[in-house]
Amino acid sequence: MGNLKNSNLNSVNGKAAGNSGGKSRGSVIIIGGGLGGLSAGIHLRLAGFEVSIFEANEKVGGRANVIKKNGFTFDTGPSLLNYPWVFENLFKAAGRELSDYVKLIPVDPSVGFQWPDGTTFQLSSNLQLLLSECEKIEPGSRPNVLSFLRDAEIKYRMSFDKLVTRNEDNPLKWIGALTPSEMTKLGVWRSLDSELGRFFKSRYIREALGSYGMYLGGSPYELPGLFSILPYGELAYGLWLPRGGIYGLVEGIEKLALELGVAIFTSSRVKRLSSAIAASKAWRWRTEPFINRKLSFPTSICRPRIRNCLVITRSDRRSGPNPKRPE
Ligand SMILES: Cc1cc2nc3c(=O)[nH]c(=O)nc-3n(C[C@H](O)[C@H](O)[C@H](O)COP(=O)(O)OP(=O)(O)OC[C@H]3O[C@@H](n4cnc5c(N)ncnc54)[C@H](O)[C@@H]3O)c2cc1C
Repeated sequence: MGNLKNSNLNSVNGKAAGNSGGKSRGSVIIIGGGLGGLSAGIHLRLAGFEVSIFEANEKVGGRANVIKKNGFTFDTGPSLLNYPWVFENLFKAAGRELSDYVKLIPVDPSVGFQWPDGTTFQLSSNLQLLLSECEKIEPGSRPNVLSFLRDAEIKYRMSFDKLVTRNEDNPLKWIGALTPSEMTKLGVWRSLDSELGRFFKSRYIREALGSYGMYLGGSPYELPGLFSILPYGELAYGLWLPRGGIYGLVEGIEKLALELGVAIFTSSRVKRLSSAIAASKAWRWRTEPFINRKLSFPTSICRPRIRNCLVITRSDRRSGPNPKRPE
């Protein structure tokens, strides 16, 4: 079955068990120990479920991982952190402080820009520094910088409240949460570059702030204006380097999950899931439809071990009336 990691499987303390009055609400298995799987595992554990995470790789982290070679450590995914509050909230939900698990180092001034004509521009979460950099490139831009920040803050709040934090399987229903006037406010009808053009004349400032479209692999001339929330988010909440790189953050989250009693199985690729009530009829669900990934592990690894399980899928189907912890 691979390696079970759990330092504290049966001792869920205080708040974690408190939400369900100390009683288990059933078992949940999560396929994949990336940031998503770990965070979902923590929330489900806090909601009173017995949670087991199965991770195909030797260690958790998924795309947020590291490769160590010849004395060097390379990030395989993200390197820096933008919205620490997302992770602070995760730890707060468990009655913990992120800072007790992960040391975040501010990266400020953050991104520096340099053009072939010698123009330079430096971004910073320090408002005075930001204002003086903008003034240097576009004299008189101070009030426009402040209007940009105010406008982007409204977009940021609206996007998080109505889109980012809302789960919806249907994209039309998802975007339908916005009224036409909210869509206009968000700048969905304009490009990011023209949205920035409402505030800045200087092509340098527009290019610098527009370059954040690369976070989405997109161009500021094609992405909607809504994405002025990307530079805004970095200016407002800062740019952070977890000590130990982004994997330091993963390790902190893994530690929290283990403390809460989440069972983590590494080197455990899930091949298929089967339901005990229907096992005799060989009613098994292959995992491909759920995780869209080519699976090549021997079936014997997981098939006999996962029974009566609650399967986390997009539609939250469950495979038995009486879910229990995987054996
Ligand atoms: C180069 C790069 C830069 C990035 N930069 C940023 C950034 O700046 N900001 C940002 O927000 N995001 C960034 N991302 C994206 C971010 O890393 C991912 O969105 C996030 O890590 C995804 O987490 P996840 O848990 O949803 O999925 P994943 O990390 O993909 O985790 C899925 C896990 O499931 C496991 N798995 C799959 N199939 C099975 C199976 N059958 N059985 C068991 N386990 C299985 C996989 O091994 C994997 O560990 C970047 C990604 C890359 C690659």
